Amino acid sequence: MARFEEYKDIFVFVEQENGNIAEVSYELISEARKLVASIPEFGYKVVGVLLGENVKEKAQEVISHGADKVIVVDDALLKDYSTQFYADALTQVVLAHKPDSMLTGATPLGRDLAPRVAARLNVGLTADATKIEVDLEYAKETGESLLDVTRPTFGGNLFGTIVCKDTRPQMATIRPKVFELAPTDTTRTGEVEEFTPSWTTTDPQVFVEKVIEKVKADVDITKANILVGAGRGAENCLDVLQKVADELGGVVCCTRAVVEDGFLDKDRQVGQTGKTVRPSLYIACGISGAVQHCAGMDKSDLIISINRDPQAEIFNISNMGFVGDCATVLPLLVESIKAAKA
Ligand code: FAD
Repeated sequence: MARFEEYKDIFVFVEQENGNIAEVSYELISEARKLVASIPEFGYKVVGVLLGENVKEKAQEVISHGADKVIVVDDALLKDYSTQFYADALTQVVLAHKPDSMLTGATPLGRDLAPRVAARLNVGLTADATKIEVDLEYAKETGESLLDVTRPTFGGNLFGTIVCKDTRPQMATIRPKVFELAPTDTTRTGEVEEFTPSWTTTDPQVFVEKVIEKVKADVDITKANILVGAGRGAENCLDVLQKVADELGGVVCCTRAVVEDGFLDKDRQVGQTGKTVRPSLYIACGISGAVQHCAGMDKSDLIISINRDPQAEIFNISNMGFVGDCATVLPLLVESIKAAKA
């Protein structure tokens, strides 16, 4: 008999703020669908766990995005995020339902919550993952579903695959934007279960005195369909690079070097310590192709690179490359786009 027979299903923590569900939760549900489909013999479901106050009405939206079932914990104590109450409630959901695995977005909230829950459950957690697969051979041999969870390590120079063989649930936080969002199906039906936690205390250990809204960045590079990426090699022609973006209806993003050199804001940084993007088109200008940058953009549909060094690493992940000086190539590109549009 398999060791973890009573543990079933893939749970996804559905993160919300003021009733707005974080897109990463839907990315994880989309990926969890693929994981359960890879082991149909286990009959696992994809279950969303939605915590908050007055959030029950959001359950159907979660089902439309691919969940078979949603467990809703609706409680005034969960109105705003609190490490204490969220960790209490989620731990109780897990103890009561025994999921095989529990996935959480590697957002600031997810990075705070998941380790607390893992510690309370005394189980392993793979943080900041970028890839998840079921080990099919292991499943065949043992009858257990084991997740191979991969994450960048050693400053992004290596990728490590971590498994949690001996405890359940297998927990992981996964970076936003690494998994594709499946199309929604509003006709999809599923089960909604309400869960009432039994609070050991309702006295908060931490009081939130005031929530200060973050000043929104002027752009959100993760939502752009066309990105023109500036590297150190394009710092002397950022005005033309902006023109390329404007002509294409795109947005300018950059490498960490450009942020460190003070040319663009950190909100525009792509990569391991920046944002992960997957636009239809990424034009990399004067970017060397360091692994830490590529980790954030290598899933773009089409990558076109301009670099004066024919050996630049960026060409290895590009669909098309131009060897040349950005200051020369970019103005020509602006003219060609204008001509094509005329
Ligand atoms: P460079 O490496 O200096 O490359 C400039 C390129 O431009 C070269 O290939 C050069 O041939 C070319 N070039 C120069 N002049 C011209 C010209 N006139 N015309 C055309 N081409 C020209 N980096 C990120 O981007 N994002 C991250 O999130 C990130 N996180 C990191 C995390 C860690 C822990 C570490 C250690 C590093 C991280 N980095 C990150 C930094 C990363 O390692 C690289 O240093 C950085 O991406 C390099 O940026 P770059 O390509 O703009 O600059």
